[in-house]
Amino acid sequence: MAQRQFQTEVNQLLHLIIHSLYSNREIFLRELVSNASDALDKLKYLTVAEEAYKSLSFDPRIDISFDKDAKTLSVSDNGIGMNEADLVESLGTIARSGTRAFLEKLSADAKKDSNLIGQFGVGFYSAFMVAEKIEVTSRKAGEDVSFVWSSNGQDGYDVEQLQSGGRDTQGTTVLLHLNEEGLEYANRWSIEDIIKRYSNHVAFPIYLTYDENEYDDKGKVKSSKKKTDKVNSGAALWRRAKSELTEGDYHEFYKQISHDTDDPLFYVHTKAEGTLEYTTLFYVPKKAPFDLYNVDYKPGVKLYVKRVFITDDDKELMPTYLRFVRGVIDSEDLPLNVSREILQQNKVLINIKNASVKKLLGEFKTLADKALSGGEDAKEKWETFISQFNRPLKEGLYQDFANRDALQELVRFKSTAVEGWTGLADYVSRMKGDQKSIYYITGGDEKTLRASPLLEAYRAKDIEVLVMDDEIDDIVIPSLHSYRQETPGADGKTESRSWDLKAVNRAGADEELGEKKDRAAEKEIRPVIEKLKKALGDRVKEVKLSRRLHDSPSCIVADENDPSIQMAQMLRAMGQTEMPDVKPILEVNGDHPIVAGLKNTEDQGRIADVAGVLLDQALLVEGVKLKDPADFVKRLNRLLAG
Ligand code: ADP
Repeated sequence: MAQRQFQTEVNQLLHLIIHSLYSNREIFLRELVSNASDALDKLKYLTVAEEAYKSLSFDPRIDISFDKDAKTLSVSDNGIGMNEADLVESLGTIARSGTRAFLEKLSADAKKDSNLIGQFGVGFYSAFMVAEKIEVTSRKAGEDVSFVWSSNGQDGYDVEQLQSGGRDTQGTTVLLHLNEEGLEYANRWSIEDIIKRYSNHVAFPIYLTYDENEYDDKGKVKSSKKKTDKVNSGAALWRRAKSELTEGDYHEFYKQISHDTDDPLFYVHTKAEGTLEYTTLFYVPKKAPFDLYNVDYKPGVKLYVKRVFITDDDKELMPTYLRFVRGVIDSEDLPLNVSREILQQNKVLINIKNASVKKLLGEFKTLADKALSGGEDAKEKWETFISQFNRPLKEGLYQDFANRDALQELVRFKSTAVEGWTGLADYVSRMKGDQKSIYYITGGDEKTLRASPLLEAYRAKDIEVLVMDDEIDDIVIPSLHSYRQETPGADGKTESRSWDLKAVNRAGADEELGEKKDRAAEKEIRPVIEKLKKALGDRVKEVKLSRRLHDSPSCIVADENDPSIQMAQMLRAMGQTEMPDVKPILEVNGDHPIVAGLKNTEDQGRIADVAGVLLDQALLVEGVKLKDPADFVKRLNRLLAG
């Protein structure tokens, strides 16, 4: 029979697992048990949801056994099973494109591999760390033939139909032929220990079969008989009372469902009773999942109905911006045979989802408040949270209108007034006098933004400006328009106050910067403005006398409803070719000698050179790429030569 080849990505994954995970070999057992548990979940669902499976008698269990002399270990389940096509599809390829992208990233940065790979479910293939050969015997529920898949993890694999010796029931047996390193796991105590640590809360019973020996007085084995013990606690952890559970229990369960090797940052366990009855257990990881920014990320929340697993692949269970949350929703009110396709329209589920989002956002807020008033520990937790999840929360600002107020209190920015992160409420609490708006600058990296001449007048007036260097700020913040705060007033009513959010690189953001100039001085500079306007023609939308400049001669701003120049440039780079050419407004500093120097000249060549340099240098400091750098250099050199 011809051998089949693994998909290239599987070969890469196998190589990586064997070379970077060896310090954590024991997780192979967690992965095999977790696959067995998934297979049982899938079959259990069919037996309640589909007519054809309802008559199937099904006593779900996972069995582990080993033989030290034969150097084997097996993990067996009576779950959904696999037929020939399933075996090829599941154990010969990697379906998810996000996983493929992840693999590419891993190979490029080999040193970090072992760290990164922990975040990512390595699954079945991890068994090749401890086995020189694996045989998977499987029979699919509802079918009556067994197939065996076998491989040494190097030269592809075989799939064969078994004529005899197949499985009596549906399900899968994974038989490992242990290698040198794997031998230590052919041992009752190490298996029990690993199961207790990683798989104690798997919701199906796990049985371990071992030899119980009797010894004679010389210490020799007198007789030996097979014994089978249940080795996990086997209850759905989320259904147990909080008071019965330790932090260790919660952490172990998290690792089991997330494949993360690290403890979670925190968890929220909620039991709702009343009109709707459900349990949720949510976790926030310490590190953003590897596929956070992939379109086909794997959702982290599983749905159960009365403890029966329904789905772990429904992106609608959480809003997209909370896709980093891991955990379980278990409802008492949904019908067991709810079809996965119509879940999204189900009222019960919508209510549970809404309540869950509120609960999570409330929990994040508590974390933020504790960081302000609490000790180092709380501070560190919050900082970790924000460093990983600030960005998805900002996505929430334009995705989730209903929770916008809560989200506004969570997102953080950099600022000209303080080090580290700050929130909008903090900004407002630092405002002086009767400042009316919240100011921010966007459109470049932090260093460029902090050096922008646009900030000069704000600095001089001691007005704080938020430094928004994250690309997403440019998209999210303009859609926010204003920040609203509600505080309990003296007479028991809530008082609502609101501040406009204004970009300093826009026309209209300079109203609080004071008067332009006295009339006489303005009149004197008018002709210079006209000369510049004429010289620049349609390169600019307008030339104006600036209120924001102190030291620099010029700056550019965008008109109130135009996209910023940087944003337009970014969109064009992303392939938006029909993007109209937005023109900047050039603002000049009437007190600057370069500008004032134009009062007494009518030399058109010189005026054109000065105008060009004023515009191009303003574009340069804002990080905009010049269309004609040679022209800029030529003009500059002419001016320098006098
Ligand atoms: P993952 O579990 O993350 O999908 P794996 O590599 O562990 O990745 O498994 C690949 C696929 O093989 C699973 O998604 C499942 O379809 C199938 N599979 C693995 N083990 C079993 C099993 N014991 N019973 C049925 N199907 C299985």
